[in-house]
Amino acid sequence: MSGEFCSGEAVKGRSSRRRGQTLVASLIVIAIIMILTVVYMRGTGGGKPAKPDGRGTTTMGAAKASAEDIACQSNVNQVRQLLMVAKTSYDSFKPATVDEIPGATSVSKCPVGKETYTIDPESGEIHCPHLGHEKF
Ligand SMILES: [Zn+2]
Repeated sequence: MSGEFCSGEAVKGRSSRRRGQTLVASLIVIAIIMILTVVYMRGTGGGKPAKPDGRGTTTMGAAKASAEDIACQSNVNQVRQLLMVAKTSYDSFKPATVDEIPGATSVSKCPVGKETYTIDPESGEIHCPHLGHEKF
């Protein structure tokens, strides 16, 4: 065995060098994660909104806008079901507004624009007046 190989200084130098390599590797991993996060947050649409009312310019924003659209669609379906229940209970029930439907006050507004849902007087169908929600 050579004295240089087993000396305390050589081992100490190697240990601090390894610690430095671990630190550099960790910083590189953190930097890559930060770059990927920024790319993910900014999205690939170049700031173009995903929804017709201007919501969803980022990937995260588009996901949030889609979730809000689904909440609105769910509300519209609940109001339609409440209207069907009310019509089976009262034969000639024809409400002029959604708020006249029993139990519909908690789901009578669009969660995005807070507009009250409308009832078509001729067909009796319920729709959301918010831009992009016309087909719900
Ligand atoms: Zn809506």
